[in-house]
Amino acid sequence: VACLSQEFDFFYFVQQWPGAYCDTKQSCCYPKTGKPTADFSIHGLWPNYNDGSWPSNCDPDSVFDKSQISHLISSMEKNWPSLSCPSSNGMRFWSHEWEKHGTCAQSELDQSEYFEATLKLKEKVNLLRILKNAGIEADDEFYTLNSITNAIKEGTGFTPGIECNRDSAHNSQLYQVYLCVDTSGSDLIQCPVLPKSKCGEQVQFPKF
Ligand code: 5GP
Ligand code: 5GP
Ligand code: 5GP
Repeated sequence: VACLSQEFDFFYFVQQWPGAYCDTKQSCCYPKTGKPTADFSIHGLWPNYNDGSWPSNCDPDSVFDKSQISHLISSMEKNWPSLSCPSSNGMRFWSHEWEKHGTCAQSELDQSEYFEATLKLKEKVNLLRILKNAGIEADDEFYTLNSITNAIKEGTGFTPGIECNRDSAHNSQLYQVYLCVDTSGSDLIQCPVLPKSKCGEQVQFPKF
């Protein structure tokens, strides 16, 4: 068991803005259930070390088993859709996330607990509402990186990491928001280390 329970220091809870994923990839593919609602969606819950490095693919013997999350599927389809191509029902994305990241948190959470904890975090943190309250909306307008960071800090109590990508016109776009979570997967904490932001000073919040 010692080999399975690789320790880690905290989680990154990572949410993505579908408008940026689809714009930058130029092609994204909607799930078979249709275009997701215009909201942030879950990318993953990633075990991390305080020095910024992270474990991955910790247990080849723990394959993704969809029967363990059958009670979560409708919520996963809504809150954790996969936008990569070809169009998918999410299973491949969830399987990838479990095997790459979730298996490194098995000292704390089994498979159903891992997905349950991630969905609960999404319920707790309504990024779209937090940003809207600060006048920041997905309207193709540009906002300062500081205003986005500060709005989320006000709304959650914790400083987020913001990841941007660039569209074909090289605009810096709001792509992913990183928040930190304790090893039980339940409470937000102050980030021990933030991912390096590659955002410009002005960040576009693209429509979806
Ligand atoms: P990218 O190289 O596109 O930034 O990230 C590729 C993949 O590496 C991500 O999908 C994620 O699985 C992993 N990754 C990137 N940055 C981090 C990080 O700071 N912490 C963890 N745990 N994984 C990361
Ligand atoms: P780079 O050398 O560009 O930092 O990373 C090369 C590859 O290793 C990328 O796919 C990146 O996501 C991954 N990588 C970088 N740092 C870490 C780490 O601390 N842990 C793991 N598992 N992968 C990493
Ligand atoms: P990571 O390795 O960074 O945790 O996850 C990225 C992997 O998940 C890539 O192989 C990517 O193709 C796949 N993937 C499937 N659906 C999505 C999605 O909606 N967003 C992102 N960022 N990656 C997705």
